[in-house]
Amino acid sequence: MNDILYFVIPCYNEEEVLPETARRLREKMHALIKSGRISDRSRVVFVNDGSRDKTWDIICSLHAEDPLFSGINESRNRGHQNALLAGLMTVRSYCDMAISMDADLQDDINACDEMIEKYDQGCDIVYGVRNARDTDSFFKRTTALGFYRLMDQMGANTVYNHADYRLMSRRALEGLSEFGEVNLFLRGIVPMIGYPSAVVYYERAERFAGESKYPLKKMISFAVEGITSLSTKPIQMITNLGIIIFLVSIGILIYSLIRHAIGATVVGWTFLAVSVWAIGGLILLALGVIGEYIGKIYLETKKRPRYIIEQFLDAEHGFTTRDLTLRKNMEEENQ
Ligand code: UDP
Ligand code: MG
Repeated sequence: MNDILYFVIPCYNEEEVLPETARRLREKMHALIKSGRISDRSRVVFVNDGSRDKTWDIICSLHAEDPLFSGINESRNRGHQNALLAGLMTVRSYCDMAISMDADLQDDINACDEMIEKYDQGCDIVYGVRNARDTDSFFKRTTALGFYRLMDQMGANTVYNHADYRLMSRRALEGLSEFGEVNLFLRGIVPMIGYPSAVVYYERAERFAGESKYPLKKMISFAVEGITSLSTKPIQMITNLGIIIFLVSIGILIYSLIRHAIGATVVGWTFLAVSVWAIGGLILLALGVIGEYIGKIYLETKKRPRYIIEQFLDAEHGFTTRDLTLRKNMEEENQ
């Protein structure tokens, strides 16, 4: 096999780990190229997601040192998922397969050998699944577990314990490009593409340096995003809840009629007060969930770009947005 492999690494304020990540990836790529498993035109593409530190400078100097490294500079920070998409969509026409991986070296680089093996055997999507979560803090471990359970119960099908470490073939990437959603949750979308897929297990290590860019607040919004952008089950649940409450209220009606017949009606104050609060709360909750979906629809109908690339730094295919605009204008003039 002599297929072209592109590694896509989203980076947000990763100046501390980037040199080490680059060193290890270079070693890995050279070994793979030397053993003839991938083409020597393979690359490592770092996507700078609007970092505020020296990340982009480091990427530029890596590229200057070695054409193995390429860089994509986004116009601003758009979050992990969009950065990943920007990378994958930019490289999809240049590579035969792409592996996405975090910059912090938590994912075991060596697992990619097995991924490529599966690709050679005809798999289009290979999911990296972590074996254990021993290296994560107790807090991170339990919240992550809760996250997967919740996702599953809410009807969002994801691969258990799979983050965004995965290999995708070119045609799988083409498939991904057909999904135009603005509310992006790649882990849920990729299984929808179809094609033969496989799973590769690896041990997840601790973050090499720097700190997690996913604090609790971001994690919760990530979970809400995942659920509401993949399933409408919460809306069904609200409908069911409404039916149950309606049934309960019939029961209460019968109960109060009986109390009335007996002649003991004055004692209902506590009960009334509680019901008002409970029902009020439920209505607000229901409105909130519905509002969440309407918000999604609002964003989808706007069709805003999911990312804007300022520059693609690459030895063969590089461009800046300015070049592209100039080229487009020239083409239009020629017509
Ligand atoms: N990341 C990004 N944009 C962001 C936040 C994170 O591109 O707004 C990248 C980050 O550089 C890393 C990956 O996403 O390569 C995963 O982030 P992190 O390791 O902080 O998440 P955790 O592993 O703690 O869930
Ligand atoms: Mg991490």
